[in-house]
Amino acid sequence: MNAELRAQATDDFSLLINGRRVPGAATLNVINPATEDIVAVCPRADLNQLNQAVAAAKSAFSTWKNVPIDRRRQLVGKLADALESRMAEFARLLTQEQGKPLPHAMHEIGGAIATIRAFAAMDLKPEVLRESDTVRIVRQRAPLGVIAAITPWNFPLILLMLKVPPALMAGNTVVIKPAPTTPLTTLRFGEICAEVLPAGVVNVIVDQNDLGGALTAHPDVAKVAFTGSTATGRKVMASAAPTLKHLTLELGGNDAAIVLDDVDPKEVAAKLFMGAMLNSGQICLAIKRAYVPDAIYDPVCAELGKLAERAIVGNGLEEGTEFGPIQNRAQFEKVKGYLEDARRNGRIVAGGEIARGRGYFVRPTIVRDIPDTAALVREEQFGPILPVLRYSSLDDAIARANDSEYGLGATVWSSNLERAYEVASRIESGTVWVNKHLDLPADIPFAGAKQSGLGIEMGQEGLEEFTQQRVINIAK
Ligand code: NAD
Repeated sequence: MNAELRAQATDDFSLLINGRRVPGAATLNVINPATEDIVAVCPRADLNQLNQAVAAAKSAFSTWKNVPIDRRRQLVGKLADALESRMAEFARLLTQEQGKPLPHAMHEIGGAIATIRAFAAMDLKPEVLRESDTVRIVRQRAPLGVIAAITPWNFPLILLMLKVPPALMAGNTVVIKPAPTTPLTTLRFGEICAEVLPAGVVNVIVDQNDLGGALTAHPDVAKVAFTGSTATGRKVMASAAPTLKHLTLELGGNDAAIVLDDVDPKEVAAKLFMGAMLNSGQICLAIKRAYVPDAIYDPVCAELGKLAERAIVGNGLEEGTEFGPIQNRAQFEKVKGYLEDARRNGRIVAGGEIARGRGYFVRPTIVRDIPDTAALVREEQFGPILPVLRYSSLDDAIARANDSEYGLGATVWSSNLERAYEVASRIESGTVWVNKHLDLPADIPFAGAKQSGLGIEMGQEGLEEFTQQRVINIAK
């Protein structure tokens, strides 16, 4: 490391266990994917520290569950206020560890703050389910206990806020485990938790992809709230089985965009492009394959190609950057594999280059004339490469879109809303947008279909997922 790098590589990150900031049993280097320099040396927990974190959360639960919800609401609200007061610092750190352009990092932090506040505004009042002369039946919502909150590296902070605030509002305590390549903003959020919340209510540990199994199997963890790949989701489910834990799994997707023949090719191309390339394609809900009718296939591919050529790719801290790097080397290698597949099986309209030098950069890439059987079409590429698939019959396009183990999101593009609604109603996924994309209001529930997930995040249901119902049935 040169002197400048060493100055940036701070050692002031700590785990949070039982209200105390503690060093890790070991360390790991967090790499800036735009430069491949070390952003920070980060504490790494061992199994003993993981057990301490769960024990602290278990012990804090006995008090926290009895704190009145309005007091919990106040404290959760303070987390949002504290995050807001450090927004610029958090955004910069997020860009350094994750790679996304700084304005997008600001947007993520803004979304995280809004999400915390949305959950802080919700309630869990007892509901009278039946009331008569002879009976009164009431449903209460009791907390579950210790929640393991496990997050991926594409949106480290906002995805955390779909878990921690509702868990706390419902009276649970939490052990957070971020992805090893993006732990820094989560550790900073842990500092805020240490200032605002009683000791042990939130704990943060960092691993190197080696403690997830122990955390999700831990007998004192009542629920796992997990966001990540479907492959890891299966492991989480298996490891939660012996103690029958509650689970929320938000997993992978291979979202189709179905373009109808009544749209303007240029207008729709601009929307498809952003839907596929935002965050350099590293979004669970990114458009990962586009079905375009014969009549407008060529112009849509050409317009997409122009947008890809114009895209500004670079270090997210540089002004004007539209697309950052792939977040980590392993994913970079995977995305390069999909480029190879595109070259072999399809035709690259634009993009496809890997920049020489430092950083995990892949330019936005548009691929046409590729068969449905290609890996780029069947699998989740999680990178800035969009396959554009031709169709002649709309029924056929819908069947091809549904022919996937995934069912996270989808989009339908048409100037006729009735037609679009009819198509949307036939798509097997948890969310379908019509003529827009990625509109995710915090009060609207979100869930994956098929192997894209289990359970619900966001909205009142996203809060209730962190509770156990207790029905009290009274004879009058
Ligand atoms: P990943 O599954 O590799 O890792 C996710 C988290 O799981 C990390 O914190 C990782 O350390 C941890 N982990 C690893 N092994 C584990 C184990 N055996 N038990 C428990 N935890 C373990 O996913 P990723 O590569 O970090 O993220 C990309 C994936 O996440 C993509 O598939 C994407 O679609 C998905 N994702 C889904 C959503 C959604 O809401 N559905 C949102 C964002 C990302």
